[in-house]
Amino acid sequence: MTHTLMTLPFDSSALEPYLSKETLEYHYGKHHAGYVTKLNALIKDTAYEDMELEEIIKEADGAIFNNAAQVYNHDFYFSGMHVEEGTISEDLALLISEEFVSVSALKEAFTEVALGLFGSGWVWLCVNKAGKLVIEAHTNASNPLRSGHTPLLTCDVWEHAYYIDYRNARAEYLEKWWNLVNWDFVSQNLVRAKYIKFPCDENSGACEYVA
Ligand code: MN
Repeated sequence: MTHTLMTLPFDSSALEPYLSKETLEYHYGKHHAGYVTKLNALIKDTAYEDMELEEIIKEADGAIFNNAAQVYNHDFYFSGMHVEEGTISEDLALLISEEFVSVSALKEAFTEVALGLFGSGWVWLCVNKAGKLVIEAHTNASNPLRSGHTPLLTCDVWEHAYYIDYRNARAEYLEKWWNLVNWDFVSQNLVRAKYIKFPCDENSGACEYVA
């Protein structure tokens, strides 16, 4: 199968003043698109050619893993932003209050992890196998799929995500990025996670999905 570049759910200037049109045009139009093109070229005539994206991420290594994961990660990142912030569902609010007490404390904890991540990578808010919210730092292209954790939200902390607008000021980027988080998207991902029968298999990480 041929993997395709997602359509952005907003215009390239819709995230201003927090993220500029120029950033979106490079980040989505050059970086994200580039990973899709490279992935398609790399999987041609290989065992990965007919696999779904998530399957490739769970199976592949090296360049195929890196490009597949970067397609997935950017799909997730761009889907998680919107000019309308949406609403935190009751279930999500409950999990946030259990783990972090408040939304502002969750933001602080997430930001701290993002600032502590050395080099390029991604910060993820996930539901772990015990059904608890966890914040994870992943370097380079890594993401939570292999650990069986269900991702709810991610922030790209590669410099290409913020260097045009904020230069080296990752903290300022994070502070502004919170204005763009689409809480409807985060809440919808939690609904998906609720259909996982916890705990998942400790050895394989495989989760059983229940209707
Ligand atoms: Mn990126």
